[in-house]
Amino acid sequence: MYDVKGNLRRILDRLPQGVCLVAISKYHPNEYIEAAYEDGQRVFGESHEQELKLKHETLPKDIVWHFIGHLQTNKVKYIAPYINMVEAVDSLKLLKEINKQAQKCGRVIDVLLELHIAEESTKYGLRIDECRQLLDDGGWRELQNVRICGLMMMASFTDDREQIRREMTLAADFFDEVKARYFADAPWFCERSWGMSDDFDIAIECRSTMVRIGTSIFGPRVY
Ligand SMILES: *Cc1c(COP(=O)(O)O)cnc(C)c1O
Repeated sequence: MYDVKGNLRRILDRLPQGVCLVAISKYHPNEYIEAAYEDGQRVFGESHEQELKLKHETLPKDIVWHFIGHLQTNKVKYIAPYINMVEAVDSLKLLKEINKQAQKCGRVIDVLLELHIAEESTKYGLRIDECRQLLDDGGWRELQNVRICGLMMMASFTDDREQIRREMTLAADFFDEVKARYFADAPWFCERSWGMSDDFDIAIECRSTMVRIGTSIFGPRVY
């Protein structure tokens, strides 16, 4: 096994207080997660509903699960009973479905809005103006069973560290705007989820509160 415990320790040593480590365990077996768990790690992130279901059923119940992938609306009902945070919400439709399923379970589910700032033309995430539009639209205010806790983004996949820094700075500035305009009275709106294995140091400088790190803890994924 990869030196999960050693890697975890080295990463945690580099995180300032107040930055939450989400250990991204997708495609890694339970024994890797258990190794991190033994050393006190409790927050893990997964991106596929089926895989998460199996892990949730077989691993300790006090694990805090974040769903970090693109979530199809027809899959929401499967994770609603136990998911702690859905990190990548990029439409009002998805937000409404999470609310509906959370209500059925008598729960309030924490979510982040996913921004699309990177240059890549992926389908996912809200452009800054789309995110403003969603928030201006106001429909989200009626949703009693979801709690919008902040913003999430992935920087471009590039070696250009200045570009990564520009993108994360843009996200951090936009966070301030959203906080002031829509969530000034909502202390729970405080999370900025950016930073992965290769760029979490930049993310911390750009005011990340939540880093999502997989490879640097668990090694390369076997797909
Ligand atoms: C896989 C994944 C990560 C972790 O990436 P690493 O490079 O392995 O640290 C972080 N965020 C999201 C959204 C991911 O899908």
